[in-house]
Amino acid sequence: VRVGAYSIGVDLGGTNLRVAAATESGEILQKISVPTVLTGGPARVIDDMVDAIRALREEVASSDLRGIGVAVPGFVDVKAGVMVVCVNLPGFEGFPIRDEVQRRLGIPILLENDGNAAALGEKWIGAGKDVQDLALLTLGTGIGGGIIGDGKVQRGFLGMAGEIGHMTIYPDGNPCGCGNFGCLEKHASASAITAMANMMGIEARKLDSQELHTLALAGNEKAQMVFDAVGRALGIAIANLANLLNYPLFLLSGGPLAAWDQFAPSMFAEVNKRSFVFRDSRARIEKAILGSNAGLLGAAYLPFSEQAAAPVKTMAGRGL
Ligand SMILES: [Zn+2]
Repeated sequence: VRVGAYSIGVDLGGTNLRVAAATESGEILQKISVPTVLTGGPARVIDDMVDAIRALREEVASSDLRGIGVAVPGFVDVKAGVMVVCVNLPGFEGFPIRDEVQRRLGIPILLENDGNAAALGEKWIGAGKDVQDLALLTLGTGIGGGIIGDGKVQRGFLGMAGEIGHMTIYPDGNPCGCGNFGCLEKHASASAITAMANMMGIEARKLDSQELHTLALAGNEKAQMVFDAVGRALGIAIANLANLLNYPLFLLSGGPLAAWDQFAPSMFAEVNKRSFVFRDSRARIEKAILGSNAGLLGAAYLPFSEQAAAPVKTMAGRGL
């Protein structure tokens, strides 16, 4: 099948390195997934990434590659094309990922934080495609996500904006690794759900959010109390976001979303109680729909986005 313009998205995770080719309308043409091999440091990971991108290009029947977006698990200095903070990939802090991949492929590369990329993916072809402004909260080990304003990723001056997981929900709440107390992710992430279930002594062993969900469905009151607390924490966070941003859409993703019916009632009660902006603007809280592909798709969207303009110009200026 002949295709026109396309882009390539890369999702560099601590476990898997995923690469996809997509058309301008968000249709996935080809996908490759390989394990991320961390033992050889950044050089090996970049080798594998370049190999995967080359293999993918051979599969696509088009010479019109517009650019490559790379989603990475750390704070990104977009101008420099490096991660300034990266906990999950040893040796990558300050490593010139963008310039190195660009040099080897001769194609413009755009680097983006994975949470921001996921939010961008949902805005492009996911649950947020009908809006220009949204915030995404991904409930996992912590709470990540991103903020899209006027169709663009909101990065802040050092790429550290959108840290919704570290918004203070309870001033004297659970201690967080960031130094704060009562961060949202200590009260509403998948890990927080397990910790709360453990603390309440619901069962002798550790339960994940799925098992706790099953118990709540079977009428276990303590399990339901955990989800009430999760909904309350999310409601407080989203009320603050709604008052601050007046966005029409707040998206949630991650494993605990399976228990939506258990936590959503307390979440909506809380956000409606606390935010007149949310109530009066009839903002929505919905499930994200792209799942674990959100970051990959957001990365593929980067070369097509209006934000692509600046870095491409930088590259031309270097005569690449
Ligand atoms: Zn924190």
